[in-house]
Amino acid sequence: MRRKLAAGNWKMNGSTASLAQVAELMAANPAPSVDILICPPATLIGQMATACLGTSVAVGGQDCHAKTSGAHTGDISAAQLMDAGASHVIVGHSERRTDHAETDATVRAKAEAGIAAGLTVVICIGETLSERESGKTLDVVARQLAGSIPDSATGETAVIAYEPVWAIGTGKVPTLDQIAEVHAAIRAALVARFATDGARMRILYGGSVKPDNAAAIFGVPDVDGALVGGASLKSADFSPIIAALSNA
Ligand code: PEP
Repeated sequence: MRRKLAAGNWKMNGSTASLAQVAELMAANPAPSVDILICPPATLIGQMATACLGTSVAVGGQDCHAKTSGAHTGDISAAQLMDAGASHVIVGHSERRTDHAETDATVRAKAEAGIAAGLTVVICIGETLSERESGKTLDVVARQLAGSIPDSATGETAVIAYEPVWAIGTGKVPTLDQIAEVHAAIRAALVARFATDGARMRILYGGSVKPDNAAAIFGVPDVDGALVGGASLKSADFSPIIAALSNA
């Protein structure tokens, strides 16, 4: 009942030449049975959205401001992302939480703004290595879920990405049991708060997903797809991940 989602986060990587990767990805996946989303840097959203118009690849932003407009130099509003052709936005990625001191309240306000503008928000949560090692993972995730998801979230407008901070860009991946434990806890919290909408909200795993580990991760209950960083930059890496998700 939950359509699977393969989402790519290009972070601060890519130039107009990288649009060729998306063309390749679309050619390799002409009629995918899963949703595909690419979140390029803001400079590429307009061109990528135009190139993907009418295809099965959706385009998203990597962040938005909580306000609709105004004196916020360098920021982008959710409505501006929509205007550029985006349908999704990532909020609360751990790199933004760290680099820009974003709190759960900031993330919640951004998610609320994204939903209000008509975007689907991908809300990221996840524990640090020291939180994991001190046995606080489930507490941290519960606190981030409660603090970062706005009441307006529904099964259609919000996607949760569980991304252990220590697994992002490191090549380290939690065990399948660890992923299963956290995803089950997230699902229980979503259902407790949002009832049927909580059951419909997709939960992505993110953190060093690669072609060689994707199938095993996608076999874990309540893993509805992945948020992929490094391996989403090249079609040759992202396509096998999409194929693994399609076969899950
Ligand atoms: C990410 O940036 O969200 C991410 C999961 O990165 P990577 O796949 O490179 O670990």
